[in-house]
Amino acid sequence: MCELFCVQATCQRQYKQNEVDGPISPSESTGNTVTDIVSPGKRSEMMSGIRAKDTKPEMRVRKALFSRGYRYRLHRRDLPGTPDIILAGRRVAIFVHGCFWHGHVGCNLAKVPSTRTDFWKRKFELNQQRDEAAISALLAAGWRVLVVWECFVRAAKTEQVLETALSSWLESASSTGTLQSIP
Ligand code: ZN
Repeated sequence: MCELFCVQATCQRQYKQNEVDGPISPSESTGNTVTDIVSPGKRSEMMSGIRAKDTKPEMRVRKALFSRGYRYRLHRRDLPGTPDIILAGRRVAIFVHGCFWHGHVGCNLAKVPSTRTDFWKRKFELNQQRDEAAISALLAAGWRVLVVWECFVRAAKTEQVLETALSSWLESASSTGTLQSIP
């Protein structure tokens, strides 16, 4: 059984074999503690540093891009930070960040857990630093970088809202962009 704070490689493998969890649904994200947001299995995955792929927000972003005629590649490991989505011809890298795990500052979905607060704060800081370093490296290599936060995708009630926001940035000349929904 994978304990909450277990980060052993053997434990990761054990968990992956037993993985049965689906994506997080918005209805689960109630209350002020993260206990209610993620299932024990999902927490184990997060704690063990396994990157969540094919999450619901990411799937919606992919679908929106495809609808507008953009073609992309996924999870290019040879690029800094392994961007979730790459538009190679346009030299664009897109990250779809889960607000909790990436410590989205000021976001309702990124509340620090009420237990082991210092541990979690440190975790989030490290993830934020890693994200920033990846973006800097991509920009330095001539890539444009867009960060799409989970809260923005959730707040986009129609696919058209998402598609318009994505294509507006893609067709702009901005080297960086952030799509987020902060109250
Ligand atoms: Zn957020």
